Amino acid sequence: MYLVTIDTDRCDGCGTCETSCPAQYLVVSDGKADIGDGECMGCESCVSICPQEAISLQEL
Ligand code: SF4
Ligand code: SF4
Repeated sequence: MYLVTIDTDRCDGCGTCETSCPAQYLVVSDGKADIGDGECMGCESCVSICPQEAISLQEL
């Protein structure tokens, strides 16, 4: 199980993470990325692709 954390001060709502997440786990709402339904697969795509380095991933 993985915990995804978005630093909303850094996030500019570009949507890159939403597009790149194979689990459709990330959604942009009101200009910020947020956690949606489903489950993170821990692939780290969002962490490496976010231009603002706003996403962190932790295995629980
Ligand atoms: S890729 Fe980064 S900056 Fe863009 S919406 Fe996702 S968390 Fe925010
Ligand atoms: S680590 Fe992978 S599955 Fe999890 S939120 Fe990021 S892109 Fe989606």
